[in-house]
Amino acid sequence: MNFSDFKLDDRINQGIESIGFEKPTPVQELAIPEILSGNDLIACAQTGTGKTAAYVLPLLHGILTQKERSGNIKALIIAPTRELAVQIDQQLEGFSYFAPVSSIAVYGGGSGTDFEVEKKAIKTGAEVLIATPGRLISHINSGYVNFDRLKYLILDEADRMLDMGFQPDILKIISFLPKNRQTLLFSATMPSDIRAFAKKILNNPNEINLAVSKPAENVLQAAYMAYDNQKIALVKKLITGKELPSVLIFSATKASVKDLERELLRLKMNVKAIHSDLEQEQRKEVLRQFRNREIQVLVATDIVSRGIDIDDISLVINYNVPQDAEDYVHRVGRTARADKTGVAITFINQKEVRNFTNIEKLIGSEIRKLPLPPEIGEGPDFNTRSPHKRRFVKRRPGRKGN
Ligand code: ADP
Ligand code: MG
Repeated sequence: MNFSDFKLDDRINQGIESIGFEKPTPVQELAIPEILSGNDLIACAQTGTGKTAAYVLPLLHGILTQKERSGNIKALIIAPTRELAVQIDQQLEGFSYFAPVSSIAVYGGGSGTDFEVEKKAIKTGAEVLIATPGRLISHINSGYVNFDRLKYLILDEADRMLDMGFQPDILKIISFLPKNRQTLLFSATMPSDIRAFAKKILNNPNEINLAVSKPAENVLQAAYMAYDNQKIALVKKLITGKELPSVLIFSATKASVKDLERELLRLKMNVKAIHSDLEQEQRKEVLRQFRNREIQVLVATDIVSRGIDIDDISLVINYNVPQDAEDYVHRVGRTARADKTGVAITFINQKEVRNFTNIEKLIGSEIRKLPLPPEIGEGPDFNTRSPHKRRFVKRRPGRKGN
């Protein structure tokens, strides 16, 4: 199949060509016609398989071919982090380079001037808003956001947007939108309780499910059993002397991310940290440096685990086992994007074995446990220690501020 088969507006095809996409990915093949036909949709496909273009292209087509092209918001795309909102806006601008569609990313943390710029764009007719929920609500509360002509609502990272942390904001935003609209949900994971809830805000949706909750095909996954006090030495061992231009290390909390940055700086590594205690400008700058390979190692909370597309991250390290099994899929999905390959290594301490087996259950396969290098000593055993299987009830913590 080719992009031309979708019969998109020529100006969009020009955009696709100039970006250099040759063939649609599987999720694009399935989702684009579905969206063009006007249905609501829940689309799940692995990380890095082109979900952004799968909704942006038909959305641009829909806007360009509307009879009435007066200003006002036609589409609202909601994403969980500022960085992702910006990234989506950049992709959209690329595709619409030859087409007159205006867009603005609306996200928190910037200066008062930024807020004024957003306000002006909203008032003077940006057709596509890409927003984080909190910031959008601030604008809505100020009274000038007019959704009367809105046709599309898209939740990117939809299961995150509908989990406990964001759900109240999303429901509030939806209460301001016209009922007669097309709603599209995209994610790589979709826990069944959230899928059931999602159907309440969708109108008779179709579903596309391509390898839900499976890490991208080309991620080589492995794990080490390690005590916390062995982990720094293990990071050092994994990184030093190797040809690894970009390494992303996830840790659970802001405090642990800052600690780890300090420890790795002490080892003279080229490292920086990203977490929500940084000013927005700093977050932007750190991510820019990491993208440009001025920084080799980025230590991060889950603020970059969802959606962020960075070329050629060769190694992802989970310094701890993520609490939510879904987070594992998203974290390791920062590598091996768009048919590339990558390695993801998880450190499991003696208390995290059960969480790790939950991840293995979710992804439907066992992840290989490697022996620690001898100089690091013996790690704990991988042993679930539960002859009487207890049912494990998974908590899904809502969280916005990593
Ligand atoms: P997802 O949202 O599924 O994680 P993205 O939309 O971020 O994935 O896309 C991942 C990467 O793949 C991006 O760098 C994007 O430019 C690239 N990509 C998307 N679609 C195609 C395509 N049809 N051909 C080539 N590259 C593509
Ligand atoms: Mg995405």
